[in-house]
Amino acid sequence: MNCTQCKKEMDERYIIDAKGTIYCSEDCMDQYMEERESSYDSHPYEDTYLILRRGYIDLLDHWEDTLNKEKINLELLVDELLEEIDELIDDHSDFIRAEGDDGPYAWEIYQYTLKLRELQKYILAWRPNRKMLYWVTGMDTNYGSLDKNQEGIYDKICMDLYLTGYEDFILYVIKIHQHPYHWGLDYVFDNLDMAKEAYEILKPFCDKYGVELSIVESYKCEAHCEDVLEADADTYINGFFYCYSCSESQERGVFTLLELKSELTGIEKNNEERQEIIEERKDWVAPFKRKIKRSCRTYGIDTPSWVE
Ligand SMILES: [Zn+2]
Ligand SMILES: [Zn+2]
Repeated sequence: MNCTQCKKEMDERYIIDAKGTIYCSEDCMDQYMEERESSYDSHPYEDTYLILRRGYIDLLDHWEDTLNKEKINLELLVDELLEEIDELIDDHSDFIRAEGDDGPYAWEIYQYTLKLRELQKYILAWRPNRKMLYWVTGMDTNYGSLDKNQEGIYDKICMDLYLTGYEDFILYVIKIHQHPYHWGLDYVFDNLDMAKEAYEILKPFCDKYGVELSIVESYKCEAHCEDVLEADADTYINGFFYCYSCSESQERGVFTLLELKSELTGIEKNNEERQEIIEERKDWVAPFKRKIKRSCRTYGIDTPSWVE
């Protein structure tokens, strides 16, 4: 389709007037009107149409950047974005029911609700383009504090670094690169060259005390904790990467289709439990609802009313 005014091919930014004439942009529509010194009477659906059009274009332009710039709670952010779009679509339920049957604006509004549903599929399938981190690790494999023996070795290595003129280095690395959850010789770099440099400096000191040093390719947990762990850890859920403890939380990922169906029928039969869920009296309810919603969306099953 080409623009009525400039004759150029149009993209998703196209706009129509009340008669259904199509333009590539607001500018072209304004120009067209100006040249003919015409204007249209305001139309009852005009505002609804213009706001929805703007909302759709904004989403199209920004949803991916918005998600990509976030670092934590990614699965949850996807849920929230999808729910926002649900609301936007639901606000136009009259037009959906009539399948856009009431003039050009009504038709376009209906089309936007369909396009938004389509867009939701892309957002649901989005997974982060995760950044590889390089974890230079010496000894501590347990969370929390070092055992006495390791602590002694760690102190000795640091002392040797001081005495050899690496005082600034070790202070800098501890301050900036210390692993968020591991003490001792555990430093995280987002740059392989820097990790290698640190490794080369530390290596002879570690060798002296029999400490095995390695560089582990790692990712950051995509929940909220900011833990960093080896990239090949078996803690991916629904395509998101989690640390061990976050991966155990019940709200991550989706049920299998079988699990979902048995949850749904179970709750349908159990009045007491259903009431508990509706009233959100217990701590487990909110995460459970989220997972049910996400699962329904994933399998294209209508969400039951007790989840809303
Ligand atoms: Zn144009
Ligand atoms: Zn975590």
